[in-house]
Amino acid sequence: MKLRTESARLLLYRACWEMDQGQASTLSITLSKLAVSETAVAAALDAIQIFGGRGYLRDHGIEAFLRDTVPSTIFSGTSDIQRLLVAEELGL
Ligand SMILES: Cc1cc2nc3c(=O)[nH]c(=O)nc-3n(C[C@H](O)[C@H](O)[C@H](O)COP(=O)(O)OP(=O)(O)OC[C@H]3O[C@@H](n4cnc5c(N)ncnc54)[C@H](O)[C@@H]3O)c2cc1C
Repeated sequence: MKLRTESARLLLYRACWEMDQGQASTLSITLSKLAVSETAVAAALDAIQIFGGRGYLRDHGIEAFLRDTVPSTIFSGTSDIQRLLVAEELGL
């Protein structure tokens, strides 16, 4: 969880830095959106797994992280669309 979070954070900071420099690149922005949203979902799933049955039950609020993070892979360009953009930027 820490590895994914820090990796996504660095991609996000790079994209923001490039924007601040007036050099926003589609590839950096797309990679950071994809990494941050999918990291959030993966971390939510990991949290549920760690807490076992309690993680899945509504009573403890852990499963709410999954409901809160899944939409981030849908809005502002779904993960599929981000991957298409990455492929396009790579000339594939
Ligand atoms: C919480 C939330 C907030 C939102 N907020 C806003 C907002 O403020 N403003 C706004 O305008 N919209 C908003 N949306 C809508 C969001 O932008 C759309 O849901 C999103 O663009 C996907 O469109 P769709 O739901 O029509 O799915 P579709 O376009 O029907 O896609 C369905 C599935 O097919 C995949 N898919 C589609 N085309 C391709 C392709 N060419 N290649 C591969 N896979 C493909 C998608 O990735 C997805 O998994 C929000 C959505 C959510 C969930």
